[in-house]
Amino acid sequence: MQNAVELKNVSCVFGTVHAVDHISLEVLAGEFFSLLGPSGSGKTTCLRLIAGFERPSSGSIVLLGKDAASLPPYAREVNTVFQDYALFPHMSVLDNVAYALMVRGIGRLERHRRALELLEMVKLRGMEKRRPAELSGGQRQRVALARALVNKPRILLLDEPLGALDLKLREEMQIELKSLQRQLGITFVYVTHDQSEALSMSDRVAVFNRGRIEQLDSPKKLYEYPETEFVARFVGSANVLAGKELGLDGGKFAIRPERIRIEPGRISGTNSLVGRLIDVHFLGSQTRYEVTLVNNSTIRMTVVAPAGGEAGLEAGSEVTLTWNPGSLRKLREGEA
Ligand code: ATP
Repeated sequence: MQNAVELKNVSCVFGTVHAVDHISLEVLAGEFFSLLGPSGSGKTTCLRLIAGFERPSSGSIVLLGKDAASLPPYAREVNTVFQDYALFPHMSVLDNVAYALMVRGIGRLERHRRALELLEMVKLRGMEKRRPAELSGGQRQRVALARALVNKPRILLLDEPLGALDLKLREEMQIELKSLQRQLGITFVYVTHDQSEALSMSDRVAVFNRGRIEQLDSPKKLYEYPETEFVARFVGSANVLAGKELGLDGGKFAIRPERIRIEPGRISGTNSLVGRLIDVHFLGSQTRYEVTLVNNSTIRMTVVAPAGGEAGLEAGSEVTLTWNPGSLRKLREGEA
């Protein structure tokens, strides 16, 4: 299968800031690919490089097999959906969606037919005469999506498109976006700082940190096999311990909170540590425990267990934490 996007050793430098620092990645055609990372890690710059709004300082960008270096944004087979929607306030929903077709000189009847088709797809039929100001945030985002899809781009770039929505609407739109992407078979390159959003929607995720990719993997692999401390902490939550705390050789190890068993009292054995329970948070289906180690009280461990097994686990009491050695992940050096 042809790659939709290839970045080869791409850097983008603004003055002294290395916004994107020697990045290489390949996005497969039809893939839902996310760029995940904290604010300022270079995700948006990476997307703007693909769109052609920024030029790389070095490296090359290939889109659908063609070198993109000399292609201006409008000549690339990509469209972008921004977080702030960027709709035309004075135009109706229908005209907003049909705009790109008008620019291309497509006749009124045909462009309205196509725009209505898209509005149907994003479940906005009946709203075509309204202005953006007369819509909710979620509806505006759908108009932006329909507008970006109307001229059938092969690749859609989405920059935090759900960032302005409240949690419930955000979760509904995540499901709709994913199903729309499947239905259309278009490649999505999706920027987000929300790890649960990236995990739930993507085929693969590139985790960004300070302009570099720390790890590029499927959501499941990222969660199960984080390679660096940064990834272990940013994707889900993790306990990171020095090998010597665990009686192991140097280096650092990560273990997920739900992979640790917690029992009241001091129980001796291997693959276990004794601690003091400092906090118990009831979360509904689960309970989260915060524990400091008895032999090193500066180390804090988080344990998550199904609710219902709290007998004897009160704040202040001594507890034993146990795990299966197969749940420990050795981390390589990275910038935490
Ligand atoms: P956010 O989630 O906050 O949008 P991001 O991961 O998308 O963050 P970028 O917007 O790509 O990060 O920014 C990466 C770095 O490059 C930041 O330090 C930013 O200040 C810097 N930067 C981005 N664009 C420019 C520019 N046009 N001029 C100067 N510096 C820039």
